[in-house]
Amino acid sequence: MAKPLLQVRHLVKYFPIKKGVFRRTVGWVKAVDDVSFDVYEGETLGLVGESGCGKTTTALTILRLEEPTKGQVIFDGKDITKLKRRDMRKMRKGMQIIFQDPYSSLDPRMKVKDIIAEGMLSHNMLNGHERYKRVGELLERVGIPPKYMDRFPHEFSGGQRQRVGIARALALEPKIIMCDEAVSALDVSIRSQIINLLKDLQNEFKLTYLFIAHDLSVIKYISDRVAVMYLGKIVEIADKKSLFDEPLHPYTQALISAVPVPNPDYKKKRIVLQGDVPSPADPPKGCRFHPRCFKAMDICSNVEPKLVEVKPGHFVACHLYDSKE
Ligand code: SF4
Repeated sequence: MAKPLLQVRHLVKYFPIKKGVFRRTVGWVKAVDDVSFDVYEGETLGLVGESGCGKTTTALTILRLEEPTKGQVIFDGKDITKLKRRDMRKMRKGMQIIFQDPYSSLDPRMKVKDIIAEGMLSHNMLNGHERYKRVGELLERVGIPPKYMDRFPHEFSGGQRQRVGIARALALEPKIIMCDEAVSALDVSIRSQIINLLKDLQNEFKLTYLFIAHDLSVIKYISDRVAVMYLGKIVEIADKKSLFDEPLHPYTQALISAVPVPNPDYKKKRIVLQGDVPSPADPPKGCRFHPRCFKAMDICSNVEPKLVEVKPGHFVACHLYDSKE
């Protein structure tokens, strides 16, 4: 098996809730709360869950665009959690992110060639002429004619802007790319083109992806393994086939039951979850999913289940599987 390129260990990110004239901290939003997983070289790990479950904060904290409250991130064998800002900047060259909204993530006052070259410039990669030559090559690779490099972001469509975002990430020759809802804002037809482009680039450049999405059909298409997140915690991780064929956690079962099936003759029983996702500022005691769980037992409201391996490579955090620990 490939070795882990990224190891996330007990990662925690709390945001303070401040109130009053003196801005006193009166509580904490527990956005990411003791999350651990590995991402192996060359794979796509899908990270899925409802909005607000902590997926994006997990990616930002791994990249230290948000400082972790606790925990460890090991990238390419190095613990990056304690790196000084300057060293972290160097390390970040190998870890890029593509955001959901390609418009707001591209500076509207900059030409596309300068947006893509900016990272190369700050890392002293290539000289001026070579940089723009490289920009042309990257644009061509992501499906944009290089002659458009002098244009501004507003002169491109949403799909093209996302292609520019991908070219910008590729410019630094990263090992891993975090795709944060990278296709969610796009039309369905454009979405599949961008997903296929990402898959092709992965093969060509031996890339590793952490692919964040709330849409399970996208996750199913692109991922090798899938981690399911609920209210700041990972509740299940498995390879794609096991997760979709035999989901173990009741939350995963509910998510999968809501995915539309293309065959109109096949009627799938949908599990409708009751209530809304509780606030991460005041998560339920015990299993965080218990107020909405259709299989909850007495123990669930008191004791937090641990993420344990119940089958080779299939981890779940649920008391239903306690005896199999
Ligand atoms: Fe449901 Fe209990 Fe499992 Fe939580 S631990 S998912 S409440 S059965």
